[in-house]
Amino acid sequence: MELSIEFLKKLAINVYNAVHQLLGTREAAIKSKRGAGGDMSMEIDLIAENVIISSLENSKANLLLISEELGEKYIGDIDKAKKNQNILIVDPIDGSNNAARGIPYCSVSIGYAVGNKIKDIKKAVILNLNTKDIYWAKKGKGAFLNDSKIHISDLDLSQNCYFELNLPMKNLMENLQKLSPIIRKFYRVRILGSSALTLCLVASGRLEAFINLRKSNRLVDVAAGMLILNEAGGKIFTLDGKEINKDLSIDVKFPFIACNVKLEPFLKSELIDKES
Ligand SMILES: [Mg+2]
Repeated sequence: MELSIEFLKKLAINVYNAVHQLLGTREAAIKSKRGAGGDMSMEIDLIAENVIISSLENSKANLLLISEELGEKYIGDIDKAKKNQNILIVDPIDGSNNAARGIPYCSVSIGYAVGNKIKDIKKAVILNLNTKDIYWAKKGKGAFLNDSKIHISDLDLSQNCYFELNLPMKNLMENLQKLSPIIRKFYRVRILGSSALTLCLVASGRLEAFINLRKSNRLVDVAAGMLILNEAGGKIFTLDGKEINKDLSIDVKFPFIACNVKLEPFLKSELIDKES
């Protein structure tokens, strides 16, 4: 039996209930150990992940959990999980540094797939841990913010376009220089700190594009956001303009460009040339 969107929302709300009061506290920021995703796990990351694990264990679900801190772990009956190909791709807290510092922009991201490829993701939930807003989508059924359907914006570069630019700190100035012809076409740039939530901002038409050139960007950060963006009519592609359909694995990392339909040709021609 497939997991319902209501079940996935409940998982996210359980995380909210456990960590909301910890946002910005000293306790939240205690460093623990290096997580499977490669970053240092903080106390708040582990609390959030443990809520997910215990909620799943209490639910009788049989699935493979791919989660930032623990890596990969079967929940329930391994044979049944392998057979039903249910996979949950979770970032317990996307934007951990914001969560620890009390910068109000962090989320829990949950993607649910039946199959082992990105295109097999069927349901997605991203909950804003500051506002409790829930972005969610079911494949083929559209994307929503709480009870309202969302859609990408239809602005083009002749209008005031906003985008997020996420670059590695290494060679920052050099990259900015290289991207300056693109940056100048936009009206405003933002760097917010939770890729999952930023994909939702593009999906809901608050931003026109999200350029994330960090090669360390993890699948767990964006798996759910990709479905929400696609269901809202948005586009997401690799730096060479290709569709992204990788294996669902903790080791998968990739830079990407997400945008509304109007900006797709411009970004593909300009940015892809600049990167190569
Ligand atoms: Mg995280």
